[in-house]
Amino acid sequence: MKIIMLGAPGAGKGTQAKQIAEQYNIPHISTGDIFRANIKNGTELGKKAKEYMDQGLLVPDELVVDLVVDRIEKDDCQKGFILDGFPRTIPQAEALDAALAAKDMKIDYALDIEVPDENIIDRMSGRRSCRECGAIFHAKYNPPKSEGICDICSGELILRDDDKEETVKKRLDVYHEQTAPLISHYKSAGSLHEIDGTRHIDVVFDEIKSILEA
Ligand code: AMP
Repeated sequence: MKIIMLGAPGAGKGTQAKQIAEQYNIPHISTGDIFRANIKNGTELGKKAKEYMDQGLLVPDELVVDLVVDRIEKDDCQKGFILDGFPRTIPQAEALDAALAAKDMKIDYALDIEVPDENIIDRMSGRRSCRECGAIFHAKYNPPKSEGICDICSGELILRDDDKEETVKKRLDVYHEQTAPLISHYKSAGSLHEIDGTRHIDVVFDEIKSILEA
């Protein structure tokens, strides 16, 4: 089961991807998480990525494509994986298609979580991420058990720099310009499923399960 998540930043891709990975026992590969871990560890890749991320821009394709292609070739990905935050541009999608085609494989499901821009801005302002493990919560829609503290590792919950309002607006522009064209790419490939992401997390997840188990 090879799955990619599409949708604007803040549409709920990460939350759904984590649940899918757990339910179907496949690795969850988030390029945003990989970059954030690199930033935290002070790597060269982290330093380069941060310059773009802090401005709400995409990290250049050449810094992300090989990283993902190498990752999906690992043993734990052979029976499937869920990509969250990749591909984000047509060249990234083409590179992914080519890497899979070389092994006679393809993306089985492209799940597009649809949420209008105005809801995204409202959502992002309430979003809090764990400084330690990256888990995401929301003051209103997915609150942690104790305010400001991660349910999973007890780390501190913070507002990510790239979740600040001005950066979110920039990220939405970038999404419409560079990432939204992937919707027709996967529609032509026959793997696109459009899902209304404005509903409760559990309702969205139930719909995803019904798609994956159809
Ligand atoms: P995310 O956590 O998926 O929203 O990603 C956070 C940021 O990481 C994005 O705004 C981009 O700057 C960068 N990023 C993550 N994935 C990609 C990708 N596939 N291509 C380019 N930049 C990416």
